[in-house]
Amino acid sequence: MTTPHRVAIIGSGFGGLFSAQSLRTADVEITLIGRTTHHLFQPLLYQVATGILSPGSIAPSTREVLASQKNARVVLGDVTHIDLADRTVTHRLLDHETVTPYDSLIVAAGAGQSYFGNDHFAEYAPGMKSIDDALELRGRIFGAFELAEVTTDPDELASIMTFVVVGAGPTGVEMAGQIAELSRRTLRRDFRHIDPTSARVILLDAAPKVLPTFGDRLGVNARRELERIGVEVHLDTMVTDVDSTGIEVRDPDGTTRRINSLCKVWAAGVQASPLGRQLAEQSGVELDRAGRVRVNPDLTIPDHPEVHVLGDMIALNDYPGVAQLAIQTARHAAKAIEARVAGAPASEPFHYRDKGSMATITRFKAVASIGRVRLTGFVAWLAWLVVHLIYIIGFKHRVTTLLHWLVSFIGRGRAERAVTLQQIFARNALSQLGDRFSPSVHAALGRPPRPAETPEEIDAD
Ligand SMILES: Cc1cc2nc3c(=O)[nH]c(=O)nc-3n(C[C@H](O)[C@H](O)[C@H](O)COP(=O)(O)OP(=O)(O)OC[C@H]3O[C@@H](n4cnc5c(N)ncnc54)[C@H](O)[C@@H]3O)c2cc1C
Repeated sequence: MTTPHRVAIIGSGFGGLFSAQSLRTADVEITLIGRTTHHLFQPLLYQVATGILSPGSIAPSTREVLASQKNARVVLGDVTHIDLADRTVTHRLLDHETVTPYDSLIVAAGAGQSYFGNDHFAEYAPGMKSIDDALELRGRIFGAFELAEVTTDPDELASIMTFVVVGAGPTGVEMAGQIAELSRRTLRRDFRHIDPTSARVILLDAAPKVLPTFGDRLGVNARRELERIGVEVHLDTMVTDVDSTGIEVRDPDGTTRRINSLCKVWAAGVQASPLGRQLAEQSGVELDRAGRVRVNPDLTIPDHPEVHVLGDMIALNDYPGVAQLAIQTARHAAKAIEARVAGAPASEPFHYRDKGSMATITRFKAVASIGRVRLTGFVAWLAWLVVHLIYIIGFKHRVTTLLHWLVSFIGRGRAERAVTLQQIFARNALSQLGDRFSPSVHAALGRPPRPAETPEEIDAD
């Protein structure tokens, strides 16, 4: 009896999950190590943050998805070390450290939020990368309206009712559009002292365009739609500081100004998983400025044909960091591993097939760029709806998502408005646990670990 070829996969996102599924019929033994118990459909995170969807609708259990795939085992853990020479991956779950050996390794650990060297902004302007982020933002957004209802100070009210979204890419546009729609439509009749429709929603970006990767026509269309529903768009505007009560920006003429705002959202910049640096240090592969790995054309790294890097972690031919890239790189790596197991020679170069990009602005309005076709308005929104339903994993998640969309898009309501104090303050509470978590968990939380603290200090906080 020969031992089956062992494949270790890091990450349960699009890259990790799709590579495991693509190896379904292969004669291999897969160990998928994920930091979370779920696969996350990140493109719909903004809908969790704004009360349209529940976390469960976009985050199916990885274990359940792979339950019937007999050659795959799912392990919850945070990968802390990759040893290319020993061919092992070390991962940790609380106090349990495990070393998993591999014959082939797939590194699909994605990317986190980048604050461009200002990690302290994260405390005041959460990003949008995880369910924790989305729930924290949901707490802050709905919490702001609650606070506004009871405040009696007009200056404080103005600050509470000002929402700032940093980053005019798809996530920023979708967030700003949804906060505006929430205030103008969903919450319109729910308060007695404040007028939710008077909330200021500001979308700002250091770049001169909205949705720059979608081309001029769609960018202009998106900006016009945002302004139609009351979003203020401030372009060429650089964030210089963020604190608990506001944000400081520099305009193109060099003047700085402050926008008082309690609720800020960070949707600008990504930084690839720190595991890329480990690969670089051990193999000499280069990283780009965002920490992405400059992989070989076949997605492997120099002198290690057994190591495949996927999705948001790669820098290759300027391919965009989108779900399709992760899915296609996953399928390519799975094929290469199957070929290796079968004893085939060197693997083929990877070529990305661009299937287009889309962003919703409000209900019934979106922009889409598919090949040479540019769509706007309702047609683009329908295309967005169909594509997102197709890629949500699992039939029951598709059905629940569709029902929630009916509630929100046909009616005025949002089914997921519950928020808890723990959700609002979760990030701060977790970061106070000092070195109980590994640095990569802190990286995922969006802030550096505080030094280890005594239990008394934690209690005192
Ligand atoms: C808010 C938002 C909206 C987006 N909208 C769109 C869109 O509309 N269309 C589109 O095509 N793309 C969109 N994207 C991009 C798309 O989601 C990503 O390109 C895609 O998820 C990348 O897949 P991946 O597998 O490389 O990484 P991810 O999906 O991020 O998966 C990484 C996985 O690795 C795990 N992980 C990380 N570090 C470790 C570790 N040390 N140990 C163990 N596990 C680890 C994570 O928990 C996660 O499971 C969006 C992204 C975001 C954040």
